[in-house]
Amino acid sequence: MSLLATLPAVVGADLTVPVGDGVLPYANLDYAASAPCLAAVQEAVTRALPTYSSVHRGAGYASQVTTRAYEEARGTVREFLGGPQAVVFVRNTTDAFNLLARAVPNGTGVVVFDSEHHATQLPWRHAVRLTPPATPAAAVAAAREALEACPVGPRLLVVTAASNVTGELWPVRELADLAHACGARIAVDAAQYVAHRPLDATGLDYVAFSGHKLYAPFGTGVLAGRADWLRAAAPYLRGGGATRSVALDGRVEWTADAEQRHEAGTPNVLGAVALAAACRELSADWDAVVAAETRLLERLRSGLAQVPGLRELSLWGPDHPRLGILAFTVEGHSARDVAQHLADRHGIGVRDGKFCAHPLLAHLLGGSGGCDEDGTAVRASLGLGTVDEHVDRLVAGLRELVG
Ligand code: PMP
Repeated sequence: MSLLATLPAVVGADLTVPVGDGVLPYANLDYAASAPCLAAVQEAVTRALPTYSSVHRGAGYASQVTTRAYEEARGTVREFLGGPQAVVFVRNTTDAFNLLARAVPNGTGVVVFDSEHHATQLPWRHAVRLTPPATPAAAVAAAREALEACPVGPRLLVVTAASNVTGELWPVRELADLAHACGARIAVDAAQYVAHRPLDATGLDYVAFSGHKLYAPFGTGVLAGRADWLRAAAPYLRGGGATRSVALDGRVEWTADAEQRHEAGTPNVLGAVALAAACRELSADWDAVVAAETRLLERLRSGLAQVPGLRELSLWGPDHPRLGILAFTVEGHSARDVAQHLADRHGIGVRDGKFCAHPLLAHLLGGSGGCDEDGTAVRASLGLGTVDEHVDRLVAGLRELVG
């Protein structure tokens, strides 16, 4: 059965790929890396193209229309997130966290778990690193201890809403309450979460995500959240658009607008238009999106449970709630061989490796994460174009491999 009729359509759902001497419909199970473009996103970009022009300060009609489209896109993203003060358009989640890392006040105590994606883990100059917690309650306890131990002053807890490796949901609300009780702020990596569940960012100080994982692959991401640190920080990009004035003697007055201050240069208007279209389309019926994914994930997990030697990876056990993202190892086969077998013989796209989360993989697989170790896994991830047949083909392909 397919629920596609009730779900937003993706571009490329009918893609076929070469397999041996023939072709097969592509079974894309790699949504967590990048999701295909939504048809509604493609339409929005196509509609915007005839009036495409540079934004801001252009008196011409096309520039006016494009400026409006860009700022409307910002408004749509703001609404999508429940109304944060600032919505800064950036390139992707990595860019968003690098911007935030430069915007935090000097001396901010940053606390981050080792289980995070590198984009969330690495931008900080100094951070207290916490080992992957054994339970969600242990995550809250470890964060409390670390935040309380930080020197007096600004503090920031950085955490993912959902793991890009195991798909497990993190106790973001509890962590936000805790951070606030400790006088700290929380920054949430929603790169995976936003394509699968509605995110009300109310009560979250900062949220970051990427368009290309949200069915809007046009090179835009978002850092949204409180305006004060963003207004006070040095501009992330120094250049036109972020200035109020530049004097002949070189003195620069930067704009105090939290968004424009960090968006110097000509912005990626089409990326913003695309992202906003995806936000609108997904928000139209989240229940359908969640129900379809839940059903497919159950099908996938019960299928994988029938594959001898397959081990599903998780921090918090098989019953912890998760998104349609699942990493596994297959005894006796390298992750690379498994992924290659699935691609070459079955036309299936999965991801293999360490998913830019080396410490987490080392923790889950019992290594140190060093460069000379294999320590890799296979990841299958579901999305709006996934149908039962893709899931069944994956399970059959794995069963064939293990004999
Ligand atoms: N955080 C998570 C949880 C991710 O899955 C990813 C992408 N794999 C990132 C951050 C980084 O996203 P981007 O590559 O778009 O910057």
